[in-house]
Amino acid sequence: MGSSSQGEARYRSEPSPRKSDDGCGDPVPSLAGLFSLVILFSQHLRAGLMNAVALRLKCRIFHCLGSIWVLRQILARKFAMVVMVTAIAGVASRSYCESEITVAEETSAMASSRISAEHLQQYSDLAVRWMQEYLRIDTTNPPGHEMQAVSFYKKILDQEGIENRAFEYAPGRGDLWARLPHTTAEAKRPILLLNHMDVVTSDASHWKVPPFSGEIKDGWIWGRGAQDMKDEGLAQLVVLVMLKREKVELDRDVIFLAVADEEADGMGSDWFIAEQRDLLENAEFLINEGGENLLEKGKVKYVGVDVGEKTTFWLHVVAHGRPGHASRPIPDSAPNRLVRALDRILAYRTPLRVLPVVEEFLRGMAPYEPPEQAREYLNIRKAIDDTKFQENVEKNESLNFLLRDTISLTMMGGSGQTNVIPPEAWANLDVRILPGGNPKSLLAEIRRVVKDPNVTVEPLNAEFREANYSPTDTALYGAIRRVSGKYFPGTPVVPHITSGYTENQRYRPLGIHSYGFNPYAATEDESNTEHGNDERIRVEEVRRGPRILFDVVAAVAGK
Ligand SMILES: [Zn+2]
Repeated sequence: MGSSSQGEARYRSEPSPRKSDDGCGDPVPSLAGLFSLVILFSQHLRAGLMNAVALRLKCRIFHCLGSIWVLRQILARKFAMVVMVTAIAGVASRSYCESEITVAEETSAMASSRISAEHLQQYSDLAVRWMQEYLRIDTTNPPGHEMQAVSFYKKILDQEGIENRAFEYAPGRGDLWARLPHTTAEAKRPILLLNHMDVVTSDASHWKVPPFSGEIKDGWIWGRGAQDMKDEGLAQLVVLVMLKREKVELDRDVIFLAVADEEADGMGSDWFIAEQRDLLENAEFLINEGGENLLEKGKVKYVGVDVGEKTTFWLHVVAHGRPGHASRPIPDSAPNRLVRALDRILAYRTPLRVLPVVEEFLRGMAPYEPPEQAREYLNIRKAIDDTKFQENVEKNESLNFLLRDTISLTMMGGSGQTNVIPPEAWANLDVRILPGGNPKSLLAEIRRVVKDPNVTVEPLNAEFREANYSPTDTALYGAIRRVSGKYFPGTPVVPHITSGYTENQRYRPLGIHSYGFNPYAATEDESNTEHGNDERIRVEEVRRGPRILFDVVAAVAGK
């Protein structure tokens, strides 16, 4: 477990600063020695009292050399020089040492390090047991039947004495809300932990274990929802229980919301926002699914925090033409026109656009990429003008979607019979727009590219949900960065735009900074089981994840 990370151990093992520990040996028996001693002492007194954290070796060598220099200057009677240089060095040294001490405070101040080993073991065991129970509940949507999951949560919350309410907004379907109130007189705005209880369909015949068995096998817990997102809902539940049992002082309410129907129409969230808005109070922060911590060769490559998502703008393309017998081909038939129009659309390149958050992500990843790619990532605004880079972007699926609105051809249809030329042929395009993108101008552009009066292009859905994203200079984002840095030392924590959809889109317009943060790490293979076969999560992740999330929540809401 992460409690004894290098950072924490290093700072804790060192004694508080004392002159004799600074490596200078006995103080120089002279006026100069006394003078430098006073300077050193005053510089470090406050820090020493604050945290009893010693300065690092660099600090000590610096001060030793400084003392020797001061002594020599005084012996040479260069007093003015001594005063000037020591003043400058004092300021520089203090700011350096204080930044060191701030780091030390951050790493040693993880809330979970104050929980007894015995309790931590209990929470870890509970997480595994509850995860298995939760995965055994079949909430395949449709039809959902999320009220079974509501009962699962409710039973535990009731046992733990945590305030909660269940809402059955339609037969068998509902949301569950719970709250740990702040304990301070003054409260900051609440933090909301959001999860969805429904899962996508599964075909048991393609699974190694039954999808609702919750079985533990080969080091994994198996089941539909193990990655999306019963694992995170479970972590949120365990966090509530930990905060409650450990009597953590809270300076803001911690609200838990488990919703139905995320995988289909989002009715669970829509209903709650429309009917129970008050229960969300004036929440400032939200943590939901969406982040990604990629595990490669046993090491977490990066902690990706989802700060925004692309938004879907599905299009329906229809070509019209004269019908007829297929034995007498019609050059401008509907299917032929459709194929030509689609060819033009697929050859079209939407403009490359660099969002600040994507720039931040690429800059964070640059040190871990090969030299040429690193250079491009560090200077992405310039790189996108380069033709070769543009070609490479198209081949790189993980980069392409971050830099442009994308168009994927997914569905096509024409005649019901092979020997009939139909009057209409159609196709659907899955279009995804970056935050800030304009669907109307993209549609106009696609129509211009099609350039055929007998081919129409129309949006499939009447409503367009504008893509949005949250800033990275918030207390919650900072807490995620600090806590992740502790559990995964040396791993970059970077903001990310997810290619998929999350309900954060629905909560940001309420004024809530919403992030996708995943407290679990997963290999690419494991992540790909999401919506696929053999969905599973490592048992060790189920044991550790809730503790990571606890530290994040406690860092933001703990007094
Ligand atoms: Zn999901």
